Amino acid sequence: MNWAAGTQCVAKGDHRKPKPGELAYHKGDILTIPCYLFSRREARHNTTGEEGLISSTNVREREALRVDPSLSLMPWFHGKISGPEAVGKLQPAEDGLFLVRESIRHPGDYVLCISVSGDVIHYRVIFQDNKLTIDHTQYFYNLIDMIEHKSKLKVCGSFTVLFMSLSSPAGWLLDITKLTLGENIGEGEFGAVYEGEYMGQRVAVKTIKCDVTAQAFLQETAVMTKLQHKNLVRLLGVILHKGLHIVTELMIKGNLVNFLRTRGRSVVSSVQLLRFALDVCEGMEYLESKKLVHRDLAARNILVSDDSVAKVSDFGLTKMDTKVSDNVKLPIKWTAPEALRKEKFSTKSDVWSYGVLLWEIFSYGRLPYPKMSLKEVKERVEGGYRMEAPEDCPPGVYSLMTMCWEQEPRKRPAFHKLREKLEREMGEHSSSPGSERSLPAKMP
Ligand code: ADP
Repeated sequence: MNWAAGTQCVAKGDHRKPKPGELAYHKGDILTIPCYLFSRREARHNTTGEEGLISSTNVREREALRVDPSLSLMPWFHGKISGPEAVGKLQPAEDGLFLVRESIRHPGDYVLCISVSGDVIHYRVIFQDNKLTIDHTQYFYNLIDMIEHKSKLKVCGSFTVLFMSLSSPAGWLLDITKLTLGENIGEGEFGAVYEGEYMGQRVAVKTIKCDVTAQAFLQETAVMTKLQHKNLVRLLGVILHKGLHIVTELMIKGNLVNFLRTRGRSVVSSVQLLRFALDVCEGMEYLESKKLVHRDLAARNILVSDDSVAKVSDFGLTKMDTKVSDNVKLPIKWTAPEALRKEKFSTKSDVWSYGVLLWEIFSYGRLPYPKMSLKEVKERVEGGYRMEAPEDCPPGVYSLMTMCWEQEPRKRPAFHKLREKLEREMGEHSSSPGSERSLPAKMP
């Protein structure tokens, strides 16, 4: 069985009476195959944390979550439909059956429609001081909270589909009672990130309170369940409680921009920079092999583990952007010209962003195109302008950057080619005289 390091497996049957050295488990338990034990067919039990030998025929790989259009955090939200249409959907009439719709006459206004004694009552959802209410007595931060509070209501839609998909034996739904939340370690665009502990393992928890965003994140999560690679931040599961919580492995050293800025040249050697570049490249090569486009590759979206391994994160969010038609939200300084112009995203537009990321790495976390406005960057890059090499950047690495910034997407190298070139560069650096001295005794 050729499982990658960290593969998660589900036990097909019970193994209650283990021989010495063997692992005990029950049918449905989740086991992880750690890399250093892989060759000996050992595994770690996700719940008990115990390690021991397993028979690979008694486990199967944990399934990826299918991206199912019916997978909805808000099955009760029916979008822009008219009042009479809402009444039609709330049939057969049953007390408490409800849905939420967007008003056609007043776009942006929401209406809660509830079936009561054979009639449908339409309540306007009022948005006031960043909170929602229908009666001015109770206020909620989002629709999910509001609906959760009215737990006696019955959803018109298939909420169960979501729970079944997530909580099936290979499921990704985690138990909130086993989670201990710790300090806030970051602010995402859509919610805070906390450090935490889940059954003995240190984790990061991203909380998304706004339901529309949570819905989009659910798609990200579904993408993440399919991906397993040492250079991609690993998803452990999700928790649905007052919004959505995405639980991932904890990357103690935070994001790569801060890592480089706070340590600088005196601490981080050029060999370590190359190692980061190679880590990201391998993660991207894996995404490329899965035909997935990241779209937001930048040093801020690279996280660093305790043992200084760089991993790509935020790679499912890409799906969310399909509808974005205004360029305002695109990270201009990282986005390839054809993606800015025609929204033509591809692995080759990721390669462009990777070139910018290389520049960020070798400039120790500087903001690309220093002192240039976004408008200027857009115009000048389109006209052929490219950034200069960062100070002390190895010429071999700068030439990789310029290859990534070829105007023609097909002329840019693929990630596997970039990896080969970087490995060669790494070989030269590690063997050049003095390179050992530039390596700190202990990795930063
Ligand atoms: P967003 O994509 O919404 O901006 P991020 O996922 O990038 O949010 O998270 C914001 C910050 O939180 C990151 O820059 C990083 O510092 C921290 N963070 C996110 N995920 C983790 C993690 N798994 N381990 C450690 N820190 C994290």
